[in-house]
Amino acid sequence: MMTRRQAIKTTALASAAFATLPSAIAQTTATTTTSSTTIAPLEQVLVSTAPQPFKLPPLPYAYDALEPHIDARTMEIHHDKHHATYVANLNKAVADYPDLGKKSVEDLMKDLNAVPEKIRTAVRNQGGGHYNHSLFWQMMKKDGGGEPTGNLTKAIDANFGSFGEFKGSLSKAALGQFGSGWAWLVMDGKQLKIEPSANQDTPLSSGKTPLLGLDVWEHAYYLKYQNKRADYITAWWNVVNWDFVSERYAKAKA
Ligand code: MN
Repeated sequence: MMTRRQAIKTTALASAAFATLPSAIAQTTATTTTSSTTIAPLEQVLVSTAPQPFKLPPLPYAYDALEPHIDARTMEIHHDKHHATYVANLNKAVADYPDLGKKSVEDLMKDLNAVPEKIRTAVRNQGGGHYNHSLFWQMMKKDGGGEPTGNLTKAIDANFGSFGEFKGSLSKAALGQFGSGWAWLVMDGKQLKIEPSANQDTPLSSGKTPLLGLDVWEHAYYLKYQNKRADYITAWWNVVNWDFVSERYAKAKA
């Protein structure tokens, strides 16, 4: 099945390719190409015939939805290039292991020991990148920010003293992460905790449930904030999607 995005790309490529042909032929050929569901997207035919079990999820909002806190260009490159590369490299890593391609990325990351040693590091990095970013997009929204409500608020107060203290601790973990990594709010058993992770390591691999994560790789902020990670962290709180985080908390607690 061709996704809408692939179909659009294919149509664009086809249009460009046929632009120099007599219009009657171009019309016929283009129609045949785009109306058939059995023809693979052009770029897939040209690049690879290997199965691609893992897919890049679409960004759930426009590139500029998080402006002015996170700029459109950063979102575009972050999603379309960085996340897409993790997905492509994960697909490459599991190419010779069709059974792994049948698992969800979540199940892959939950049990890295079940992954053959030969590709375990690749799956840890690329699968972690795919999983963490798939969550990250949903953990933010247009006109987000503020504070959570309901049970999550109570749990945050009980665990950290207050929302302000929680926010300070997560920000500190994000700022203190040396080099690339993340800062997370996780469920560890029935307990809420804050913990950093290096590179694309995900709390899922150590048996915890990530509820909220802050990407502090430079690719997440460098275009707008350059070396000022603290300013990015301060701005990021304005886009947190507390509805999504609360929902994850409710599911993890159940
Ligand atoms: Mn990232």
